[in-house]
Amino acid sequence: MKVAVIKEDAPGERRVALVPETVDRLTKAGLEVIVEQGAGDGAWFPDSAYSEAGASIAKTDDVYATADVILTVTRPSETQVTRLRTGQAVIGMLAPLVNPQLARQLAARNVTAISLDGMPRTLSRTQAMDALSSQANIAGYKAVLVAAAEYGRFFPMLITAAGTARPARLLVLGTGVAGLQAIGTARRLGAQVSGYDVRPASRGEVESLGATFIVLTAVDNGAGEGGYARELTADERQAQQAELTAHIVRHDVVITTAQVPGRRPPLLITEDAVKAMAAGSVIVDMGASALGGNVAGSAGGETVITENGVTIIGPENLPSTMATAASNAYSRNISALLLSIVSDGALAIDLSDEVQAGVVVTHDGQVVHPAVAKLLQPAAEVPVTRADGDADVDRPGH
Ligand code: NAD
Repeated sequence: MKVAVIKEDAPGERRVALVPETVDRLTKAGLEVIVEQGAGDGAWFPDSAYSEAGASIAKTDDVYATADVILTVTRPSETQVTRLRTGQAVIGMLAPLVNPQLARQLAARNVTAISLDGMPRTLSRTQAMDALSSQANIAGYKAVLVAAAEYGRFFPMLITAAGTARPARLLVLGTGVAGLQAIGTARRLGAQVSGYDVRPASRGEVESLGATFIVLTAVDNGAGEGGYARELTADERQAQQAELTAHIVRHDVVITTAQVPGRRPPLLITEDAVKAMAAGSVIVDMGASALGGNVAGSAGGETVITENGVTIIGPENLPSTMATAASNAYSRNISALLLSIVSDGALAIDLSDEVQAGVVVTHDGQVVHPAVAKLLQPAAEVPVTRADGDADVDRPGH
C-alpha cells in the first residue's frame, strides 16, 4: 500500500503530516511512503531527509495518481479535493463537524475520509493517536510565550541593582490540555499563576502544577459528558462573568482556552472586565475565531489595543508557529492511527470498532459518521439561533 504525504496548502500552515523519523515505522510495517516535493520545508524537514529515511519524493501529479492513502494535517483545499480519486483514503484533521460539505464531496468521490479530530480521547489505546491533545499542548506553551513577548514587564521576580521587579500575575481560564500547559510554562518563566475551570476535577491538576485554583460560587459543577465541560445556563454565565471580573482585574496577563463541545466558546472576559484592567495588561484569547471567543473584542489573527491600554491577542494557528515540534507530535499520532487500521497491507475499515467509529467520516461512497450525516440533513444545515442571539456551532473534534 502506498501512503503519501502531501504539501499543506492552507495559508500560513507550516506543519507536515509525517516527519522523516516516522517514515521507518511505516516502511517496517510493509507500507511504501511517498512524499510530495517540498512537503516538509515549512517544518524544516528537507526532501533529502525523507529520502534518507526510505521515502520516495514525487511531483504533485504523481503523488495523487499513485497513492492509496493520503496523509494531511488540515483538511484538503478545493484544489486538492479535486485531485482525489475513487478508492483513495485521506487521513487528517478534517474538521467535518465544522465543514460537513467536505464530507459530502469526499463521499461523492468515493474517498474514504478519516479524521483525527473525532478520536475518542479517554481510551488508553488512543493516547498515542490524540492529535487534539498534542496540538493543544503546543498551543498552550506558545500562548504564554506570545503573552510574555507582548507584556512590557518581567514574568519572574527579579532583584537587580536597578530595583526589584515583582512577578507577573497570570491567570489561565479553562484548564484543559492547553490551559495546563500554559500554567506549567508560565510557572517555569517565574510568573505567579492562578487557574480556573468549570470542571471541579481540574482543581487537583492546577494545584499539582503549583498554581492557585480559583473557586467561584457562581457555578457549582460545570462538568459535562466525556470529561468535557457542559454549556452553562444564561444565569450561570452571567454570575460567572461577574464573579470572574473581580479576579481578572487583579491579573497582569490572562490566557483563555475555554471550549464547550458543539457550542461557540463561552464569553468569560466581558467588555466591562477589559475596561477595568490596568494599562499594560495582556490577554491572549486562544478561542478567538470568526465564531467569537472567550474575550469581548478579540478577533482571530488580530491584536487589538483597547483605549485603556489592554492588549488583546487572538492568535491564529499557534501549533503552526512551532511547526517542527507540532509535526513531530502529529506524525506520531497519525502513524499510530494508520497502523491501527492497516491489516495485511491494506486499510481494514471496521465501523464496529470504537475508535474507527469516531474517526471514519466517509466510506464506500457514504457519509458514515452519524454526527456529520446529521449535519448534512437539510433542516440541520442552518445553525440554530438561541434566544440570546448566539448561534450554536459544532467545533472541530467535538
Ligand atoms: P476543551 O478544549 O474542550 O476546553 C478547554 C477547557 O475549557 C476545558 O478544561 C473546559 O472544562 C473549559 N471550559 C469550558 N467552559 C468553561 C467555562 N465557562 N469557564 C471555564 N472553563 C471552561 O478541553 P480539552 O483541553 O480538549 O480537554 C477536555 C477534557 O478532556 C479535559 O478534562 C482533559 O483532561 C480531558 N482529556 C482527557 C484525556 C485522557 O483521558 N487521556 C485526553 C485528552 C483530554
